[in-house]
Amino acid sequence: MIIAYTVKEVREQVKAWRKEGLTVGLVPTMGYLHEGHASLMRKAVEQNDRVVTSVFLNPTQFGPTEDLESYPRDFDQDCRLCESIGVSMVFHPEPEEMYAPDFCTWVNMDVLTGTLCGKSRPTHFRGVCTVVSKLFNIVTPDRAYFGQKDAQQLAVIRRMVRDLNMDIEIVGCPIVREADGLAKSSRNTYLNKEERKAALILSQSIALGQQMVQDGEKSAAAVKAAMTEKINSEPLARIDYVEIVDGLSMQPVETIKEPTLAAIAVYIGKTRLIDNFII
Ligand code: AMP
Repeated sequence: MIIAYTVKEVREQVKAWRKEGLTVGLVPTMGYLHEGHASLMRKAVEQNDRVVTSVFLNPTQFGPTEDLESYPRDFDQDCRLCESIGVSMVFHPEPEEMYAPDFCTWVNMDVLTGTLCGKSRPTHFRGVCTVVSKLFNIVTPDRAYFGQKDAQQLAVIRRMVRDLNMDIEIVGCPIVREADGLAKSSRNTYLNKEERKAALILSQSIALGQQMVQDGEKSAAAVKAAMTEKINSEPLARIDYVEIVDGLSMQPVETIKEPTLAAIAVYIGKTRLIDNFII
């Protein structure tokens, strides 16, 4: 497995693969990889001749008061996992390799980024769209893999690719959960024992909402109220948002029909966790 630190190394290797007529898949990550990331990489290895995983803690998608500095890292372990899955190359640039000191070009999206995480984190999706565009330009993959765990991100990337005519197939992958239901996340490592237990309220509220919809509930307000009440029953939980939105535009809906996204963001202590289900 190749470990590349520079844009030049990646470009040269991808060029060589292209000469051989090989297809390339890309899995963008921020590192501290777990089974969620592994599921994306496995699918990518299945569907492409070569797979590049980027491990880049992208500073531009963090707000000034967010957890960029404390975000967990273990690059050696990440590489071991990538290698065991059959990833061909890990791209691990320094921030300086990705952002020149006078960097000033951004990919901005309206509408879809005005709700949910985009509302709580106003510069987040500008950072995501910009770094993903850069990774697409550097790796020029045939396919790129994103988790449904970050449902708004997946919708935003799909829209960006459509709107900007990027010739890349976006492959969405289902949420991977712990045995007790908690969605796998690098940020779960922040939770102490008591908080880890309390964090189950997210997947429990998701399961409750999903059950209501399955049982025929069509009112977004009713589902939202039940999910909110469930989360509020946990003393360590503080709601950032509970929203039911159109699955494409990310705008709130009154009536649940396909495709609809129910998404939540909840603080457990100081840790902000997200979860969702799609209808
Ligand atoms: P991150 O390293 O958090 O930026 O995540 C990198 C990619 O892995 C994103 O496309 C995420 O949606 C995806 N991902 C993270 N956690 C999970 C999970 N539990 N299940 C599926 N995909 C995930």
